[in-house]
Amino acid sequence: MTEGIHHKVVIIGGGTGGIAVAAHLLKEMEELDIAIVEPADTHYYQPGWTLVGAGVINAAKTARSMSSVIPKGVKWIKDGVSDVSPESNALTLTSGGQLGYDFLIVAAGIKIDWEAIPGLKENLGKGGVVSNYDYQQAPKTWQALQDFKGGTALFTQPPPPFKCPGAAQKILYLADDALRKSGVRANSKLIFCSAAAGIFPVKKYADALNQVITRKELDMRYQTKLVEIRAETKEAVFDKGGEEEVIKYDMIHVTPPM
Ligand SMILES: Cc1cc2nc3c(=O)[nH]c(=O)nc-3n(C[C@H](O)[C@H](O)[C@H](O)COP(=O)(O)OP(=O)(O)OC[C@H]3O[C@@H](n4cnc5c(N)ncnc54)[C@H](O)[C@@H]3O)c2cc1C
Repeated sequence: MTEGIHHKVVIIGGGTGGIAVAAHLLKEMEELDIAIVEPADTHYYQPGWTLVGAGVINAAKTARSMSSVIPKGVKWIKDGVSDVSPESNALTLTSGGQLGYDFLIVAAGIKIDWEAIPGLKENLGKGGVVSNYDYQQAPKTWQALQDFKGGTALFTQPPPPFKCPGAAQKILYLADDALRKSGVRANSKLIFCSAAAGIFPVKKYADALNQVITRKELDMRYQTKLVEIRAETKEAVFDKGGEEEVIKYDMIHVTPPM
């Protein structure tokens, strides 16, 4: 039980955000009393999952024990937070205890909604349906790229919010590179289906990315939102401004809704 325990600063979440803010605060005030509430034993460097999916690094390289990344001097409370009571500056822990704070930093991340796309969750990692957005799944993207012998590879990006606006398209460029190296790019069509209106909202970066897209001969389709995967017929169903569009795929990398 942690009843009656109080820390000057409490951070919910030991992901990149929680760990980085704790380290930064300690750099400014080395005596500061900080606690991180985090139930997981393992911390994941999620940006590395793009490189796992492209076969550049092993998944294990993106995982560290939580204890090794929590900055020295920070108290790790290995528990979850089930409720916040801002009026009394207190948290309720999943284990049932209470934890008081002067300052609260919420860094609990964003939750992926795999079930928002019918046909996605149950087919992940099978029949060419892959996603880098999970530690267990990212290696299967690389497997699918190695198994790809030509045909249509789809890459999807949902409407916001989703973490890392770059990740949905980075795997597209890396897949193009991998398929050129394996000699099947000439028989392949790479299609990027994004719910957004363009490749990037900032013109300077969009201009540079559009040069890459032209050079790599990628088929870009915007304002096109994935709404269903029909795994048995290898079809992806999109909502394009209210109209249904069905695209047959040999492989599909999904950036899931969050
Ligand atoms: C494939 C991929 C590629 C990416 N590429 C890039 C990139 O190139 N550049 C970039 O800047 N970003 C990238 N990102 C995004 C980046 O990884 C995230 O933005 C970042 O991890 C978010 O950090 P966070 O601490 O907010 O959340 P997370 O890292 O998700 O951590 C949240 C933590 O909170 C904990 N938690 C959740 N609920 C509770 C609770 N109730 N109580 C206690 N703890 C809780 C969780 O266990 C978790 O450890 C990528 C992400 C992915 C998936």
